[in-house]
Amino acid sequence: MQAFSGKIVALSGGVGGAKLARGLAECLAPDQLTVVANTADDFDYWDLRICPDIDSILYALADLNDEERGWGLRDESWRTMVAMRRLTGDEWFQLGDQDLATHLFRTMALRRGESLTAVTAALAERLGSPCRLLPMTEQSVATRVHSDQGELAFQEYFVRERCEPKVERIVFEGIDAAELNPAVHEALADPALTGIVICPSNPFLSIDPILSLRGCREAIAAAGVPVVGVSPIISGRAVKGPAAKLMEELDMPNTAAAVADYYGDLLDGFIIDDCDREQCAQIANPRRQCRTAQSLMRDLASKRQLAVDTLSLLAELH
Ligand code: GDP
Repeated sequence: MQAFSGKIVALSGGVGGAKLARGLAECLAPDQLTVVANTADDFDYWDLRICPDIDSILYALADLNDEERGWGLRDESWRTMVAMRRLTGDEWFQLGDQDLATHLFRTMALRRGESLTAVTAALAERLGSPCRLLPMTEQSVATRVHSDQGELAFQEYFVRERCEPKVERIVFEGIDAAELNPAVHEALADPALTGIVICPSNPFLSIDPILSLRGCREAIAAAGVPVVGVSPIISGRAVKGPAAKLMEELDMPNTAAAVADYYGDLLDGFIIDDCDREQCAQIANPRRQCRTAQSLMRDLASKRQLAVDTLSLLAELH
């Protein structure tokens, strides 16, 4: 591919989004890519501020993530967690020893009064991220899952209950009082911006909180650049996590086409997996292009290739 000119803003959740963000970072110069992370999964544990999506993206961008486990850092150890379990009996959330340093560093900075944007930038620099990573907002937003087992905090649903409860409704507590991070506003208003990417993240739990922030959809529209999404659903299944199960519970077909419809007018282009190519006719319309690609990112080469395909579609639409 030719060198891509201009800047890109990518909206991302944790694991799926982080894989494409890593691919994009491989194809773009450091000042060309800004990744915007969902923070509605953030919570406090052991009095530490944990930002799961920011950390998944940070670790992936810095090439420190554990690909096999699918989350957290490589070469991790778990001695503090085992010791804490002995003291507290608290069993359900896993924190590695090195990962703890991230949460300590962040919590200390926040308690000194630094912004989440500033501490995320410091972490990105010190861990070796090649591009800019921004939290979606400075305010606290918390996903609450209303389910057949009652109302659950996001991590209770996701980690403790392993996404087993049947979801009836998802609520982003605090969203009305929250604003899009001014730094995200700036990135979207940058005259050098040439495209926006919606990563293959969970549309309901990872991308919706970002899009629901006051001013976000307006800022995307005002940017006047193409928006390309990548489907997190391949062959009716999520690669990881509850996206497909959620679609069934929310009365949608669990298909890539249904994800495209869910994003609606926001998208100028959508990339689905080669194996779903028969859905292209359903997705494409005069205002929305559909392309197929090998969209399962197993290694660095496939992340880079999907990033190239995404950037190529953006360039075509520009
Ligand atoms: P989370 O916040 O950690 O759940 O991360 P995301 O929301 O960013 O990612 C979850 C979504 O990523 C799931 O719906 C997966 O199907 C999707 N995903 C994970 N790996 C891949 C991949 O290699 N290719 C595609 N297309 N989607 C993926």
